Amino acid sequence: MNQQIQQSVLDGPLFPMIIGGKTVATGSSFAVTNPANGEIVGYAPEAEPSDLDAAVAAAAEAFKIWSATDDSVRAAACLAIADRIEANAEELARLITLEQGKPLAGIGSMFEVQGAVGWSRYTSTLSLAPEVLASGEGGHVEKVRKPLGVVGSITPWNWPMLIAVWHILPAIRSGCTVVSKPSPFTPLSTLRLVELMNEVLPPGVVNIVTGSDSAGNLGAAMSAHDGIRKIVFTGSTATGQRIMRSAADTLKRLTLELGGNDAGIVLNDVDPKAIVEGLFWGAFINAGQTCAALKRLYVHADVYDAVCDALTAFVANVRVGNGLDDGTMLGPISNKMQFDKVVALVESAKTKGRVLIGGTPGEGLFFPPTLIADLENGDPLVDQEQFGPVLPIIKYTDIEEAIAAANANPAGLGGSVWSADPQKARAVAARLECGTAWINQHGMIRPDAPFGGTKMSGLGVEFAQDGLHEYTDLQIVIS
Ligand code: NAP
Repeated sequence: MNQQIQQSVLDGPLFPMIIGGKTVATGSSFAVTNPANGEIVGYAPEAEPSDLDAAVAAAAEAFKIWSATDDSVRAAACLAIADRIEANAEELARLITLEQGKPLAGIGSMFEVQGAVGWSRYTSTLSLAPEVLASGEGGHVEKVRKPLGVVGSITPWNWPMLIAVWHILPAIRSGCTVVSKPSPFTPLSTLRLVELMNEVLPPGVVNIVTGSDSAGNLGAAMSAHDGIRKIVFTGSTATGQRIMRSAADTLKRLTLELGGNDAGIVLNDVDPKAIVEGLFWGAFINAGQTCAALKRLYVHADVYDAVCDALTAFVANVRVGNGLDDGTMLGPISNKMQFDKVVALVESAKTKGRVLIGGTPGEGLFFPPTLIADLENGDPLVDQEQFGPVLPIIKYTDIEEAIAAANANPAGLGGSVWSADPQKARAVAARLECGTAWINQHGMIRPDAPFGGTKMSGLGVEFAQDGLHEYTDLQIVIS
């Protein structure tokens, strides 16, 4: 992907790393390009192993004070970060659109920035107060939560800023300190975010290092680093497994939010027109590049044609384009690696299924929203996570068959059931093997509800009180 470039020849802004509260620019940098047109957006530093060591050392030093800082100060810091993000929302949203491709408006980069503000504010309201388990003649037993130490955050390219906030805010709220490493595809908005955080945090509480894949293995070095107590990672299952292996020697705590292949089951009592918009955005949010997006749709034979028709009519009016242009609803695929994966899955699906709309790549990294009907389990587009703007549709006649097909996948992140009868939908939802089950909606994650995967979709949860606890060691004090 990105070439290492000497600082002297840069033709765009260089976003520095922040280590111990100071900006750090290294000897070489890599270019970050706009997926909508291939233009250079800016440059990120190519970190050396010594930069990672310096970041871990700065975080370890800051931990001594931050972990002992009064809880109210840490809660206030979350609010101050929210304010800094909000005050710079337009700049941050534009940067996300430029480096990632999603539209500025709609369910795009401004939505992402507002989510980051909301999550930061919500995190300030969480509590780590000790819990009394027993008190009286038999003794006093207290459950105390202590911050782990230095946390390594490795974030992906699909929602670069929001996911960085999901990792960093609970870490610092609980008293941990952080070394962040964003995806080499989209490091700029996170570099700027961490710069803003450093305006309101003591030095070393949040540090950031960046590197391109060609320089290699910053993430792997973090996973094995003996100064890091925990890795929080969002990305592919394969990389999650690698992280687990390299974390074994130091017995790091892990939160792994990995890929999904979320199934939606449409029952035979739906009004297709009433659910079509929810189905579309459930699947095509961020051009399908979302872990908990709807990725396989099982539709009862009674309503199959009507649902296919309603979705096709909806997709026909979806505008795809440069995220900076007014009216754009979906941007390009974020990078060539992902584009090639989507193209290959669609080509194979065409040999078996019926393309209802889309299916032919556009210019550059643009791919139109695509619906492919008449597929079934065993077809690669159904079995594998496409992570792109494509939805396979599968017909069923017996609900038992649909539930079995939905569960016959190693992933278990989310799932949804669509019905006019919420009770009937709940009964089906309860049988889905997934961390979150939605009814008549899909992918609506929220800061007050724990979120995580079952099966191969991950380990641990993020968000809410349960998510905060993952940044702590439990200590029982008995007197
Ligand atoms: P990925 O494999 O999930 O992760 C790449 C990141 O992991 C890079 O930052 C890389 O950094 C780091 N990494 C690589 N090897 C590592 C190791 N051994 N230990 C620790 N970190 C390591 O991302 P991808 O290749 O961009 O995407 C592949 C697929 O992941 C996509 O097709 C999609 O299915 C899925 N994905 C899921 C999500 C999600 O939200 N769950 C988001 C994006 C992508 P270094 O090179 O510096 O080590």
